[in-house]
Amino acid sequence: MIIAIDGPAAAGKGTLARRIATALNLPYLDTGLLYRAVGRLVLDAAQDPADPAAATAAAKALTEEDLVRTDLRGPDADKAASLVASIPGVRAALLDYQRHYGDRNGAVLDGRDIGTIVFPNADIKLFVTASIDARAQRRHSELLHRGAAISLDAVKEDLKSRDEADRNRAAAPLKPAADATLFDTTNMDAEAAFFQALELIRNPSR
Ligand code: C5P
Repeated sequence: MIIAIDGPAAAGKGTLARRIATALNLPYLDTGLLYRAVGRLVLDAAQDPADPAAATAAAKALTEEDLVRTDLRGPDADKAASLVASIPGVRAALLDYQRHYGDRNGAVLDGRDIGTIVFPNADIKLFVTASIDARAQRRHSELLHRGAAISLDAVKEDLKSRDEADRNRAAAPLKPAADATLFDTTNMDAEAAFFQALELIRNPSR
């Protein structure tokens, strides 16, 4: 079984996907981590994440160890991930990994293009959204919790520019698959989102 969970940044995809995977006993892949790790490798090499040759070489050289680094979150990593993600060579290099991951035992995958490109035949496709204010507030409290000093406005601007870049890029832009179920979590906490999503997965026709 493949469950595709796509949507803009900080919509609650990761928390939701992780909980669904645990509940259904499926492996979980956070595909954003792949782009974050590629961005990090490029920054480590003092190269430009917007440089197609450098980013594509980093994507081809990615290993499992790169995915468990502790510096893959935060504004620098966000920005680098978003830049490398618009490069077709990077996306092509990461595609096989994602497909093999899902093909082994089924999986829940969250990202931007899972239902449109990576697994267009996924059994379940959810497109998770929330208002920009709700998303900015969630991401801001998450960052404060981790000790980052950043204003709510700065978080909101970061999210907006990342979403805009994700929506408007030519390669695998962020958009709901034609057959995805839209799932708006603006007025839901993580618990409510989990139970409603599980209900949708168990009774997709409702
Ligand atoms: O989901 P997360 O915010 O960790 O993703 C980081 C960045 O990676 C996104 O802003 C997006 O540019 C890119 N991404 C993508 N396709 C995916 C997952 C993430 O382009 N499937």
